[in-house]
Amino acid sequence: MTDARPMGFDTLAIHAGAKPDPATGARQVPIYQTTAYVFRDADHAAALFNLQEVGYIYSRLTNPTVSALAERVAALEGGVGAVCCSSGHAAQIMALFPLMQPGCNVVASTRLYGGTIQQFSNTIRKFGWSAKFVDFDDLKALKAAVDENTRAIFCETIANPGGYITDLDAVSAVAKDVGLPLIVDNTTATPYLCKPIEHGATLVVHSATKYLTGNGTVTGGVVVDSGTFDWSASGKFPSLAAPEPAYHGLNFHAALGGMAFTFHSIAVGLRDLGMTMNPQGAHYTLMGIETLGLRMQRHVENAKVVAEWLEADPRVDFVTWPGLASSPYHDRVARIVPRGAGALFTFGVKGGYEACVRLVDSLTLFSHVANLGDTRSLIIHPASTTHRQLDEAAQIRAGAAPNVVRLSIGIEDVADIIADLDQALARATA
Ligand SMILES: *Cc1c(COP(=O)(O)O)cnc(C)c1O
Repeated sequence: MTDARPMGFDTLAIHAGAKPDPATGARQVPIYQTTAYVFRDADHAAALFNLQEVGYIYSRLTNPTVSALAERVAALEGGVGAVCCSSGHAAQIMALFPLMQPGCNVVASTRLYGGTIQQFSNTIRKFGWSAKFVDFDDLKALKAAVDENTRAIFCETIANPGGYITDLDAVSAVAKDVGLPLIVDNTTATPYLCKPIEHGATLVVHSATKYLTGNGTVTGGVVVDSGTFDWSASGKFPSLAAPEPAYHGLNFHAALGGMAFTFHSIAVGLRDLGMTMNPQGAHYTLMGIETLGLRMQRHVENAKVVAEWLEADPRVDFVTWPGLASSPYHDRVARIVPRGAGALFTFGVKGGYEACVRLVDSLTLFSHVANLGDTRSLIIHPASTTHRQLDEAAQIRAGAAPNVVRLSIGIEDVADIIADLDQALARATA
C-alpha cells in the first residue's frame, strides 16, 4: 500500500488503521485490554510525557485498539487525526473543549438530535459556555448570530428527527467568512454518504453508537480533525495557539501544526476529562465499519422503497425522506449526500396521536426503541417519548408533532419491512 494511489472507501473501511499485530501477526485488530504500557527506560518515559515521541502510556490517553479505530475513522472522513470517546455526547464536549473558554458560545442549528439540544441548552452552561440556536437555512440570521465570543458553528449533515439536509457548502462559506471552525455531526449520514470535510467542515463528530458500529452493541463517539483550520490566525483559540497552562505552557499549534487539535484532545482533553473509549467497544466498532459501505447502500435502498410506498398510501399524511421529489431538500441530495438521502425520516399518520401509539404497538418486526442506525428497523413516536416534555407548539417546530412517527430503516428484506408497516397501519387506522 503506497501513498501514490488513494484507496477507495470500502478498502479503507477494512484496512485503514489495521496492520497485522506487530507482536503476534494477528490479522484482526486485537483487543488490547490493558491499562498501562511498560516504558523502555526513564528517557523513553520522559519523551512520551513531553510529546517528543508518540507511544502508549496509559489507556485513559491512548490504547492500540482505540488508536486503530481513530485512524480508520480519520481515513474515511478525510481528516488528519481523530480522537475516540466514550459516547457521541462525549465527542461533542471533546470537540468544543479546546475551542471554548468561559463566556464563549457556539452557534448551533435548531435542527439537532434532541439530546444535543439539551446538552447545549443547559449542561454546557455549567462550564460557562452557551449556545445560540438558529435556522441554518437563514444564512443572514446565522451570520448575525455570530458575535465576538462565538468560537464554533455546529450542525448535523442529515438532521434529526429526519428529513432535513443541511446545506454544508453554504454554512461552511459563512464559517469561513467569519473565521470560525465548523463542527458537523455526521452520525446519521456517515462518511459513506457525506464527507463534511470536503464541504468545508473543520471538525466532524460521530456517535459511533449508530451506523459506524451498526448493530446496536456499542456506545461510543469520535471527533475527526480536518487539520485545515489556522488556530493562530485570530487569537481566539488560546488552548491551541498560545501557551497552554494545562500542558506546561506548550503551544500546540506552533509545535504540532495540523495535529494540534488531535494532540490537545488526547494530552489535555482525555487526560483531564477522561471520556475515553474502551478497547472492547473500539473493537466492535472496527468490525462494524468493515461493512459500513455495504450496509449504508442497503439502508438507503430500503429507505427509498419504504418512503415511496408510504407516500403513495392513503393512510399516510406526509413522508419527509429527502430523497423524495416532494421534499423541499431534494435539491441538496445530489450535492451533499449523492449516494443516498439516509435511512432516517418521519411520516405523518392519519388519526394523530392515538393512531401513532396503536401503530407502534402493532408492529412486530420494527423495534420500538430510542435509537437509530441499527441493522434492525426501528420506530419511535417522538410526541409520546423523546419529545413528550415539549408543548405541542414546540413539538411541531421540532418536526415531532403528535401525528409524526420516526423510522430508522434497517437492512432486512424490504418486503418484510413493508408487510409489517402495512398490517400495523391497518390496525392503527381501523
Ligand atoms: C445518538 C446521537 C448523538 C449522541 O450519541 P451517544 O452515543 O448516544 O452519546 C449525537 N448526535 C446524533 C445525531 C445522534 O444520533
